[in-house]
Amino acid sequence: MMISQRTLAETLDLLHRDALVALASDLIRIPSVSPRDTADCARLGIAPGEKAVAEALADRLRKAGAEVTLQEVVADRPNLLARLRGAGDGRVLCFNGHLDTVGAFDMGARAFQPEVREGRLYGRGAADVKGSLACFTLVLETLARTGITLPNDIVFTAVIGEEGPPSGTEFLIKSGFRADAAIVGEPSGCRVFVGQRGGQFVRLTTHGKTAHGSTPHAGVNAIEHMVRLLAAIPEMPIFSGAANAYGVPSFCIGTINGGLRINVVPDRCEATIDVRMPPGIGPEDVLAGFSAQMERLGIGGEVEPLEPGHPAYLTPETAPIARAAVQAAQALGIDARPTLAPYWSDLAHLHRAGIPTLIIGPGSILQAHSADEYVPVDDLVTCARLYLYTALRFAGEVEA
Ligand SMILES: [Zn+2]
Repeated sequence: MMISQRTLAETLDLLHRDALVALASDLIRIPSVSPRDTADCARLGIAPGEKAVAEALADRLRKAGAEVTLQEVVADRPNLLARLRGAGDGRVLCFNGHLDTVGAFDMGARAFQPEVREGRLYGRGAADVKGSLACFTLVLETLARTGITLPNDIVFTAVIGEEGPPSGTEFLIKSGFRADAAIVGEPSGCRVFVGQRGGQFVRLTTHGKTAHGSTPHAGVNAIEHMVRLLAAIPEMPIFSGAANAYGVPSFCIGTINGGLRINVVPDRCEATIDVRMPPGIGPEDVLAGFSAQMERLGIGGEVEPLEPGHPAYLTPETAPIARAAVQAAQALGIDARPTLAPYWSDLAHLHRAGIPTLIIGPGSILQAHSADEYVPVDDLVTCARLYLYTALRFAGEVEA
């Protein structure tokens, strides 16, 4: 049944700022550090793992009337599934966010002592992604409380292992989980990300010939070759070519290693480069581009993938979930121009399972993992409203 504009406005107003800040703070207070950062946990005397935060959310969502399951992925590391039943067999919408955070690192003990200052909520996971977990939870609670029954189920999946394997989202998909659309709550500054960039880690190796440093002409300098190669990266066609609708690839020269000692001509140099690509440029194009560049410059060496690359993932802007989110953003007066996440996220697993997926979340990736991780409180409110509006629009409950 279509809900009126008045009911819609009243429902959105139930997503209170204070309730969002309180819940996000509660979640920050419960450490849920990835076991990958166990060493950092030892420093602060906390146990790694997501279980405590999964149980806290499970408790709340059960009280709200959701069907809650804890799905153990590995011992003591459960995914949380909270299903709000709809009245019919409409398209199932999945909200997805991860329970784990990176270690406290240079945030120290402040990481788990949430604090609001100048309109920002500080704490580890504020942006990545306990803020969005709070928004998803409040949206489910609000729908349950107002008695708005959608034709479709909404399933909130709060997963383990996004910051380090094993991936809870991958496990969820392998366990047979299906939905008709998904929203991943990674930080997007409340923008609608209709996909994410691809990536390829590349290792370049150049070769030379050793000689005494006083007679460099007797050798071949592998570092000089590498310097020429790296300096010419911006001229490579994949980086200098015309941008498509989603931009051009980016590159970051991450490491460089070479040389034996100061007075020996180096016979080997290695550099690693992190390349991120928009749709239309695949991992193989990146590797072929570097090989062609070496050939063009007459430099001998190798181009290798440092690990398997992945293409960009794009949900068509015509997909019902993308249309619903864009229309909701327009209606709420926020920037509705769809764009792509520059980073990797669990969207990959959902997309590969054939589920049209967006990324929408409060805060910015620039603060994630940082010493000053925070989420703007306004973003929590905006995102919660955007999630709720999008869910109603996707369900066909509000007019375009
Ligand atoms: Zn992260």
